Amino acid sequence: MFRIGIGNDTHRLVEGRPLVLGGVLVPSDRGGEGHSDADALLHAMTDALLGALCEGDIGVHFPDNDPQWKDVHSSELLSRVVWLAHERGLHVVNVDATIMLERPHLRPYMLSMRENIAEILAVELPCVSVKAKTGEGLDAVGQGLAVSAQAVILLES
Ligand SMILES: [Zn+2]
Repeated sequence: MFRIGIGNDTHRLVEGRPLVLGGVLVPSDRGGEGHSDADALLHAMTDALLGALCEGDIGVHFPDNDPQWKDVHSSELLSRVVWLAHERGLHVVNVDATIMLERPHLRPYMLSMRENIAEILAVELPCVSVKAKTGEGLDAVGQGLAVSAQAVILLES
């Protein structure tokens, strides 16, 4: 049996916050505002995985008003959902994701992100695709005000 899920996530970018994407600290004068480490990429993947499991969304499982999840690493949240999938006899086939960020350029950090994600999802590196695009100076991403990510994930029993 195959199951597919889609997820997306957006965080406002503010000064004085670290920019964390795919579990990698990306040097930047601005970072994602929000609960936990505001890792939009891992949040989108967590939602995609929950979607594939038909288990609601990240806010249902890890409410942002619950102190238990304050400042928790997003890799921990994704790991917990991977565990839920494994418990149901499902494993990840592949994941594809796109990060929307105006700056900085993410290419130097892509391999580290993919390695982190492959380890969390318990898959080989070629099963993890992460792409990056800018907003062409247009919308909130393009104005440097936000970071977004989209992910699609395939599970197989
Ligand atoms: Zn988020």
